[in-house]
Amino acid sequence: MHNFNTLKEFLEEPRKVVIIPHTKPDADAIGSALGLSWYLRKSEHKTTVLSPNDYPSFLHWMPGHEEVEVYDKDNPEKAEQLLDEADAIFCVDFSALSRIDELGPMVEKQLSSKAIVMIDHHRGRQEFADYELWDIDAAAAAQLVYEFIDLDEGTQRIDQRIAACLYAGIVTDTGSFKYPSVSSRTLRIAAALKDTGLDTARLYNLIYDNNTETRLRFLGHCLKENLTFWPELNTGIFTVSQDDREEYKLQSGDTEGLVNYALSVNGIKIAAIFKEKDERDGVKISFRSLGDFSVADLASEHFNGGGHKNAAGGRVDGITIEEAVAKFKKVLEEKLK
Ligand code: 5GP
Ligand code: MN
Repeated sequence: MHNFNTLKEFLEEPRKVVIIPHTKPDADAIGSALGLSWYLRKSEHKTTVLSPNDYPSFLHWMPGHEEVEVYDKDNPEKAEQLLDEADAIFCVDFSALSRIDELGPMVEKQLSSKAIVMIDHHRGRQEFADYELWDIDAAAAAQLVYEFIDLDEGTQRIDQRIAACLYAGIVTDTGSFKYPSVSSRTLRIAAALKDTGLDTARLYNLIYDNNTETRLRFLGHCLKENLTFWPELNTGIFTVSQDDREEYKLQSGDTEGLVNYALSVNGIKIAAIFKEKDERDGVKISFRSLGDFSVADLASEHFNGGGHKNAAGGRVDGITIEEAVAKFKKVLEEKLK
């Protein structure tokens, strides 16, 4: 099924579709999944968004959030059953099955019997799908979901609900339209979504103006105490310890965007945030860069991760946060010499 027409024919009958975003879904992953879900429902398909885990409460406003099925490790049979019953599985905002944790092996088992569709913009693509819409130059997976709808000649069917989900993905993955990934196509798609009557200012409030006082204090604490610069490497790093997590009662999503403050300093071109015991043991790291330095390569070569040239992530297990920081510094010294 490597061409779109075969997929289109397959979708002419009402199908059972499971849509999966990547682990720890962000606004692009969950927005793409929900936007696609609402779109497919317009053609009588039965859809379920199945998330590998929970996502931050600042995304709970998204239409369809209440119906998202979150994988429960105490009840894996539920996810297994959904996948068994599906005719098609759509994978959005990831292109390697290692990015969906325990759901990876479950989807792997379905590969030969189900129509598998992958819509993504990350590097490190693995071949597993029957049909792919994969473009690392796309600013967001939500942009590619729009392209999917466009190929399906369905853009007229995009309503405000679909538009809200897709717009949220595009706004957040482009840093509010500021990253180099923004193309004229991105802006045209945003305009088309706005033309559905979407209240984009309200959407922006829902996504960004949701700080609690504690979270703002945590930001202050991090800027004062947890930020280190290595000017000789044009790099700035944040660390977030287990103690911080407890003191500020950190929740999923509370460190979102923090790493970018380091990049805002003159001369800083690479930034990272190291988080102790984020979700599970080990150290979770987010990387950012400005310009040509690929943090996706750095993450995949040294930190079991991947992502995009200017925004990537990874994880190291079995070492302390100090050791992870030291490893990063050493890798940078070697790469930049
Ligand atoms: P963030 O730092 O905002 O969590 O993620 C930045 C980008 O890197 C996102 O596109 C995200 O999907 C990707 N990313 C984050 N963590 C990982 C990881 O552990 N592995 C891979 N392959 N990509 C990641
Ligand atoms: Mn994305």
